[in-house]
Amino acid sequence: MEKVMGYCVKCRDKAGREMKGVSVVEIKPGRFAAKGTCTVCETGMYKILSKDNADKLKKAI
Ligand SMILES: [Zn+2]
Repeated sequence: MEKVMGYCVKCRDKAGREMKGVSVVEIKPGRFAAKGTCTVCETGMYKILSKDNADKLKKAI
């Protein structure tokens, strides 16, 4: 399973937090995001992905 880092609004760690339970969602046509939860505080996180990264991640998870 691929590690996905994202910014957690609760931890506010600029280095980012690892996301768990990651899934790729289409937030609007042609715009993809990784959706998951922070491994530290369980807050829901999103990370905007390019089309290429979304395709790559879909295969990896
Ligand atoms: Zn967090």
